[in-house]
Amino acid sequence: MNGIKSFLKTHALWLGLVAVIVPLLAHLGLQYRSLAELESTVPVARRAMMLQFLRVLNREITQHYRTNAEKVLNLEPVALAAGDYDVIVAHFSKYSFSGARRLFIGEAARSTGNSYASIRFFNPAKKRLETDSGSPDWRAAHAGAATWLAMALTDTVPKSPQLTVDERDPKHRLVVKPIIDDQSRVIGVAGMILDDWYFLNRLLPDTVAASLPKHFPDNAGEVIVSVIDRDESLIYANQQFEGKKYETGGPLPFIFTDWYLGARMKNWTEAEMARRTFVVNFSISILTSFVLLGGIILALRTASREIKLSRMKAEFVSNVSHELRTPLASIRVFGEFLKLGRVTDTSKTREYGEYIEAESRRLTQLINNILDFSKIESGQKTYRFEPEDLRPIVENTLKLLEVRLAANGFQVNFDPPDSPLPPAIIDREALTQAVINLLDNAVKYSGAAREITVRLRQSGKMILISVIDRGVGIERAEFDKIFEKFYRVSTGLVHNVKGSGLGLSIVKHVAEAHKGRVTVESAEGRGSSFTLHIPVAEIETVQDSPPPHNDAGALPRIHDRGLGA
Ligand code: ADP
Repeated sequence: MNGIKSFLKTHALWLGLVAVIVPLLAHLGLQYRSLAELESTVPVARRAMMLQFLRVLNREITQHYRTNAEKVLNLEPVALAAGDYDVIVAHFSKYSFSGARRLFIGEAARSTGNSYASIRFFNPAKKRLETDSGSPDWRAAHAGAATWLAMALTDTVPKSPQLTVDERDPKHRLVVKPIIDDQSRVIGVAGMILDDWYFLNRLLPDTVAASLPKHFPDNAGEVIVSVIDRDESLIYANQQFEGKKYETGGPLPFIFTDWYLGARMKNWTEAEMARRTFVVNFSISILTSFVLLGGIILALRTASREIKLSRMKAEFVSNVSHELRTPLASIRVFGEFLKLGRVTDTSKTREYGEYIEAESRRLTQLINNILDFSKIESGQKTYRFEPEDLRPIVENTLKLLEVRLAANGFQVNFDPPDSPLPPAIIDREALTQAVINLLDNAVKYSGAAREITVRLRQSGKMILISVIDRGVGIERAEFDKIFEKFYRVSTGLVHNVKGSGLGLSIVKHVAEAHKGRVTVESAEGRGSSFTLHIPVAEIETVQDSPPPHNDAGALPRIHDRGLGA
């Protein structure tokens, strides 16, 4: 049970990631399947939509012609029987219909064994009926009316006296209606010759424009509606296009029945359209999944950092307690010796006194670091910058640590520049503390080595303070991390050295506050060199010093931290 618990705890982040990725992949898989399914059904659905649209279009066209023809051709049988053409003229004038090119009536009569049929055309300008004998219209009207007129001559009662369409001659398309008397006999016909131009240029465009947005609210502009004649020539299209004339369609049902009304999407066939929808939708799914995954990885990384940080904080507390306890114990022991008066030798007394002083300084240094760190963390750390010469500051710092360094057998070489340094704008206290931290580390991580060099140089517009030791060195992979708060290298020789993990993070903060940086060069087992780069004061007369020393010395690697020069 405990094993499972600890497994869950240590692998919580990975488990979290798996817990997100698995359902995400499952979701993507399902999405893929349903989109693929949709891809195969979309063309069918779209074709059905297109067919439905064409059906409605046909219905509206048919209705338009049928209703108007019914109205215009609905002549009173009495008027025809009485030969009252004025009533007929008045009727035609009242219901004139732009879909018709000409209106006419047909009559049949018998006299003395002969039967004859007469056709009269309505002249809207002169408001009268006229014969126009022998003209192509006259011949066409005769042919169209013939069946009904034959019935009129034989007094036949037709089964269904309806509108009939006669399109035998494509140039003379007729709609004809029998005129029936009160005994249901045919006594004549009323007819119209249709106007192709009106259909193709007025009625159809208007009907298409009105119904397209209703059926295709999102992509009405994508739909091409076309009419082709019996020779497959395009005689109407609602917009310019290339390629196939239609994807789906059929002949017009009522009139113009030899013409084919078709439709298609402008840029894609239905299959292409479905493919595109699939690709777009699936890409969006993949994209959102990646964004989601990115967000989750980011959150998990933050969580992992927080976990690491809290572990480091816990270690920090234990480390600091130890750091405090050790010097306090020595101070107490030496203090007791002195109090008991057992030490009579003055040189010993001084030695103990110096030891107590050095240990107290170390304690102060540690507490300063902790206080500084807390100020940095809460954003309350302030600096008092003044132009200063760095050399005396570094020298004084070395003096402060002299006793402790000597007590531990360290030999410190101070390597000053050949010529005086230009002033730098610095916070003396902060910079002193940074140098102390570097020296403190050099001592702590020197291993068996006992040699430390402090070098002061100018390089261009930077003053470089290097603290070089011949100690345990640092692995390259750790270069970045050692400047992080609480971070301590936990492997190798440094493992047993106590520390707070704050020293270098404060050094870095101080360097950056001075618009400088801190760099490290190190080789494992051969020592480390930490260098503070502090900009010289911006005074126009400042001259660059002679070429700088090569700080890298025998150490092979260099690594930069901070804001950069
Ligand atoms: P600490 O209190 O642990 O010394 P620092 O922030 O000063 O904290 O240093 C962080 C880590 O960097 C140390 O734990 C140590 O591993 C490494 N380090 C710092 N200075 C040196 C040095 N001069 N030589 C080798 N390792 C060093």
